[in-house]
Amino acid sequence: MNKVIQERDKCIGCGACASMCPKFWEMGEDGKANLKGATNADNEKYELELENVECNNEAADACPVQCIAVSQE
Ligand code: SF4
Repeated sequence: MNKVIQERDKCIGCGACASMCPKFWEMGEDGKANLKGATNADNEKYELELENVECNNEAADACPVQCIAVSQE
């Protein structure tokens, strides 16, 4: 299983992830990005397990503060 991890406290709200990968990312009312369906693993760390990470690699590459990580196993 693959995992997408967001360190949400580092998000600066640039919108790149939601633009590159709207299936999984949307901007929240507080101006930061939400990883759709993710669970809050630890403080501001959100995780989502996926069979196929699809466009999340592009979202991770586009994030200017590198707060999105994709682990592929
Ligand atoms: S690309 Fe990164 S900094 Fe920009 S909104 Fe998404 S998570 Fe936040």
